[in-house]
Amino acid sequence: MSSDCLFCRLYAEGEHVRKADGFVAVKDINPRAETHLLVIPERHVETFRDVDEFPGDEAKRMLEFVADTAREVGLEDYRVVVNVGPGGGQTIFHLHWHILGGQMRGLPG
Ligand code: AMP
Ligand code: ZN
Repeated sequence: MSSDCLFCRLYAEGEHVRKADGFVAVKDINPRAETHLLVIPERHVETFRDVDEFPGDEAKRMLEFVADTAREVGLEDYRVVVNVGPGGGQTIFHLHWHILGGQMRGLPG
């Protein structure tokens, strides 16, 4: 846990829509869709580029957590977005997954 990382702090003490197994889902503070959640892993990995820092089973569980979260909030059709690097719209350097469902107002980032 890095105390100067917003998403490490959100993981530890945020308001969680869902939590299991080293992952949490929170509501995006600036929603770009009717439903806009962020999935945040406990492990601090800066960017999707470094996804190999996750042990294989943890990476699989992370993907399942994204799918299960969308299902649990009642989404069948939705988008999953990961912004990678500043040029890809990433503003917070702790890997996270956007889940966007319903009416959308453009891409996050
Ligand atoms: P990205 O641009 O992909 O790095 O996404 C960062 C996302 O975090 C943006 O969609 C922000 O709206 C969201 N965000 C920033 N601060 C918070 C916060 N305190 N709680 C929830 N979401 C946040
Ligand atoms: Zn972090």
